[in-house]
Amino acid sequence: MIGEIKAKIIKPARVVTPQCCAPVEPPTKATMWRRDRYLKLRPSFNPDACQRESTVEIDGKPYCRLHAGGLALDKWLKGELVEKGQS
Ligand SMILES: [Zn+2]
Repeated sequence: MIGEIKAKIIKPARVVTPQCCAPVEPPTKATMWRRDRYLKLRPSFNPDACQRESTVEIDGKPYCRLHAGGLALDKWLKGELVEKGQS
């Protein structure tokens, strides 16, 4: 008799999200290098923007966690975010 002892692990399906829209400055010494390289690697992505996929949306724009974190911190320091639970 054949019986299953441990359930087979099924990976969740990959969720495709839009590219992070944060602009990224090219390297100062080889300005075209970044653009050429990323255009080859991911032709559907904008080579002048961050190459990560987005995980959050801020003000209607998609951002990866790295850039969203910086943006959220800027908003926090400007007082645009309100601490939850305070009344
Ligand atoms: Zn990003």
